[in-house]
Amino acid sequence: MPQPRSRTQREAEFMEVARQMYTELEDWYAQHPDASFGEIEAEARRRRRELMGQVLKILINERDTGYQLKSPACPSCGQPMKFERYRPWRVYGLEGDTELERAYYVCPNCKGQTLFPPGSETPTAGGSLE
Ligand SMILES: [Zn+2]
Repeated sequence: MPQPRSRTQREAEFMEVARQMYTELEDWYAQHPDASFGEIEAEARRRRRELMGQVLKILINERDTGYQLKSPACPSCGQPMKFERYRPWRVYGLEGDTELERAYYVCPNCKGQTLFPPGSETPTAGGSLE
């Protein structure tokens, strides 16, 4: 389970992954001094996608993974649901792919009644997190 971090910690982590990306680009350019602008851009774009995936993970996952102190009510019977575990949640976005984790709840009364708060159980590319 990812540890929630403060905004300052998340910012520091972002600065670190951004710095790493830039360093890699510097190294790549040093090894390809004759690269055209298009080639440099293609290299930067490929890394940007990785960077964005990491940025989204820091921004979303380290803030909140859907665990609630008060259990959500079952949509079927209204009874409090039981937190089971965190489940990996692969998101394919427009700007980057990332592996998130979401809290997973089950209802002790209703067989098969599960919940990933808040909202959608089947996120798709470009889909909302809400
Ligand atoms: Zn129920």
